[in-house]
Amino acid sequence: MYWRGRSLGGVRSGDPTRIAYLDNAPTTPMRPEAVAPMLPFLADRFRNPSGAHAESPAARQAIDEARDVVAECLGCQPGEIVFTGGGTEADNLALFGAVARRGGIPVCTAVEHHAVLHSVQELRGRVVGVDADGVVDLDALVGALAGGTVSVVSVMLANNEVGTIQPLAEVARIMREHAPNAVLHTDAVQAFPWLDVASLAWPAELVAVSAHKFGGPKGVGALVVRSGTPVAPIIHGGGQERDRRSGTHNVAGIVAMAAAMQATLRDRSSEVARVGALRDRLADGLLSSVPGAHETGDRSKKIAGNCHVRFDGIESEALLVLLDEAGVCASAGSACASGAMEPSQVLRAMGFTVAQSLSSVRLSLGVTTTEADIDLALKAIPDAVAALRARAS
Ligand code: PLP
Repeated sequence: MYWRGRSLGGVRSGDPTRIAYLDNAPTTPMRPEAVAPMLPFLADRFRNPSGAHAESPAARQAIDEARDVVAECLGCQPGEIVFTGGGTEADNLALFGAVARRGGIPVCTAVEHHAVLHSVQELRGRVVGVDADGVVDLDALVGALAGGTVSVVSVMLANNEVGTIQPLAEVARIMREHAPNAVLHTDAVQAFPWLDVASLAWPAELVAVSAHKFGGPKGVGALVVRSGTPVAPIIHGGGQERDRRSGTHNVAGIVAMAAAMQATLRDRSSEVARVGALRDRLADGLLSSVPGAHETGDRSKKIAGNCHVRFDGIESEALLVLLDEAGVCASAGSACASGAMEPSQVLRAMGFTVAQSLSSVRLSLGVTTTEADIDLALKAIPDAVAALRARAS
């Protein structure tokens, strides 16, 4: 629970209206455990880790230590970590880098984040459909692998809009049979706060994560590149990250990401239980108190923090405005393209109509979500839906 005008540092000013931040899928507030170790590298310890000054080795050492932590949290060797400028870059490096080295074309699911989907489209790859819960259609995947030209398959571990978890082990089994020379990439950006990525992503040669989804800073992420997986750099320059990603290291960001990962792993099982119960209370409460409310997808196949619902006859854009006024931060199942609201490609791929897609909202919970946030949402959302329906009648 936050208050309007109150900074994350706890300085209270302005309107004391409470805010329920239920928009953790786009970004999360930074964990204090990540802020503290970051600060010295923004101040006195600002040196370039590749520099020749006496202080540079300290920055290098900080990166080495962070690399060890990140590798352990992701279940790989330190040398298999490539630090990037976030999840989008990690996904782009995986796809463009793999295709540049191996030739051929990529395949992905229709519910991937645009960082993957647009890369696959740019590389003239194939897109595989999903079922009504957003789970990849494995028969369609077999079909897409035909012809022997596929060199990389990208299937996200958990979806950013509806939270569906994909059967990665099954995908890997199918690849072994139908495209044994292709590599598997998984976008684990939304999965990391909730799932044991180290064990679930083991079949993937390439695994992308992003710090700001689990209490780290924006603009830093990592790609696991398993040893023996050739990936060409997409950013050229000074040859950092063993020539896989050039550019001066974001030392503060990398150190903070490692700290946020450690804290996430420490709390993950208890947070999954706590937040999952809050999500269930929210979803069940909305379904029982709002006529014409429908939950998206099968909850048992979703990450704990995702609550995705639609309300018959309601435009989510208008609903979000009323919710914002009531202090509830959420997102719509739509994206703004050239000023017009476009229905989400994820919901359309799951078989929803344009109208259904445009009446959907995503409430994404996180480690800062409290019972009071859910109380506020369970009051504000039914009120806002009723107000919109009254206006329309
Ligand atoms: N992949 C998924 C599934 C995401 O949800 C996001 C961000 O929303 C990204 C990739 C992009 O990550 P970043 O914001 O770090 O570029």
